[in-house]
Amino acid sequence: MAKLSIVVPCYNEEAALPLFYQEVCRVAGEMAPVEFEFLFVDDGSRDGTLPLLRQLAARDARVRFLSFSRNFGKEAGMLAGLQHAKGDFVALMDADLQDPPALLPELYRAVTEEGYDCAATCRTTRQGEPPIRSFFAKLFYKIINRISDADIVDGARDYRLMRRSVVDAILSLGEYNRFSKGIFGWVGFRTKWVPYENVERAAGETKWSFWKLLLYSLEGIVAFSTAPLAIASVLGALLCFGSAVAIVVVVCKTLLFGDPVGGWPSMMCVLLFFSGVQLFCTGILGQYLAKTYLETKRRPVYLVRETG
Ligand code: UDP
Ligand code: MG
Repeated sequence: MAKLSIVVPCYNEEAALPLFYQEVCRVAGEMAPVEFEFLFVDDGSRDGTLPLLRQLAARDARVRFLSFSRNFGKEAGMLAGLQHAKGDFVALMDADLQDPPALLPELYRAVTEEGYDCAATCRTTRQGEPPIRSFFAKLFYKIINRISDADIVDGARDYRLMRRSVVDAILSLGEYNRFSKGIFGWVGFRTKWVPYENVERAAGETKWSFWKLLLYSLEGIVAFSTAPLAIASVLGALLCFGSAVAIVVVVCKTLLFGDPVGGWPSMMCVLLFFSGVQLFCTGILGQYLAKTYLETKRRPVYLVRETG
């Protein structure tokens, strides 16, 4: 019988985990002949998540867990889960029931019967989200889809079920800076999109602040597009052209009308503007350099402290 691995990154999820486990077990029962494996990745939680996972693993032979030496972030958790999952099919899920396990049978059917390699989910609405967050999220998707060749779907969640071949493809991307939404889009394969209504978190609280999300989206752009570098060059070229025109104008004006002293404030404005542009472009360069630096160090993405 086919085996389905459920990979769940958990960071401080002691409140939500029991609810999640109960619900996912119920769904596993419904999908009866399919064999399940639950692989929980404890991402350096500081609450009772790890003891809870030890308990679950002792009680239920289908449960395995990995525990990181510290918090490495959700990306690292998903990578570790995919690397250690043994199933013919692998599903990625959050522990907070925002990814309803009730959708699993539908996702599984899409991959086993409808000829898809991968079944992914997306939200139909952004209800219950602060408007400013929605605005920036939409803007981000618009920008990144224009400037990168990975197809990144607005509202896509990380909740997805994949064939082994897709998992292997994802794992073959050995980069250190992992931006899963981009990686999923980049590897391609036939993907079925299953929309569903946004669900509130069952218990506990979100680990993503607005600031964290903003940094994460910038990381996504740096990881999946070199367009900002091109923009910096184009901007430089345009400004060079502009300044050449300005020089001609200034020289002609001086020759025709003499050189009345003045214009100091306008000169300061121009000076400040151009210094700003220069720093901005150097900053863009720095972002790519920093990422390259981190990649060349070849550090492990995560460190495991305990398994079970
Ligand atoms: N998560 C993680 N490491 C982190 C942050 C989050 O493993 O550093 C897990 C978390 O336990 C949850 C999932 O990633 O299972 C999604 O996190 P969360 O619900 O906080 O994000 P949101 O749904 O609000 O985007
Ligand atoms: Mg959540």
